[in-house]
Amino acid sequence: MDCIFCEIASKTSEAEIVFENEKFIAFLDINPVNYGHTLVIPKTHFDNFLTMPAKELEEMTKLTQYLSGVIKRALKADGFNVISNNGTSAGQSVFHFHYHIIPRYENDFHMRPRTIEYNSTEIEVYAEKIKAAVSKYEGLLNG
Ligand code: 5GP
Ligand code: ZN
Repeated sequence: MDCIFCEIASKTSEAEIVFENEKFIAFLDINPVNYGHTLVIPKTHFDNFLTMPAKELEEMTKLTQYLSGVIKRALKADGFNVISNNGTSAGQSVFHFHYHIIPRYENDFHMRPRTIEYNSTEIEVYAEKIKAAVSKYEGLLNG
């Protein structure tokens, strides 16, 4: 498979690795939005957030929490963003699941490019659509 993150995980491509264990690897993003911008990936290939098995997702999320705290301390950051882009429309460019950890400093930059506004009833319409799907798919939560 032609996947740059699989290549990094198997050490056939180079990266500035900051953490590694049996299942996961974390390395610095080659095109960072801030100093210390880190990517956390599973060594096994899964396309995105939705296709990650629950156990691996839980382990990777715990690891990302730990690494976020470590990075915040190491770089004396004021905060950080943990982001997962899913699908081309959401900005995903590497289709091997990853979390971004982005160290943040007071007044460094705006992450939100825009906001939209609901008209008077629209917010309820959107809530209803989502709630109907939650009922329809509730079996997926525990299944
Ligand atoms: P996405 O856009 O899929 O959420 O994030 C993919 C990230 O991987 C991007 O921020 C991009 O800069 C980073 N990236 C792409 N190719 C490489 C690479 O070969 N090495 C490293 N270290 N980062 C990469
Ligand atoms: Zn991969």
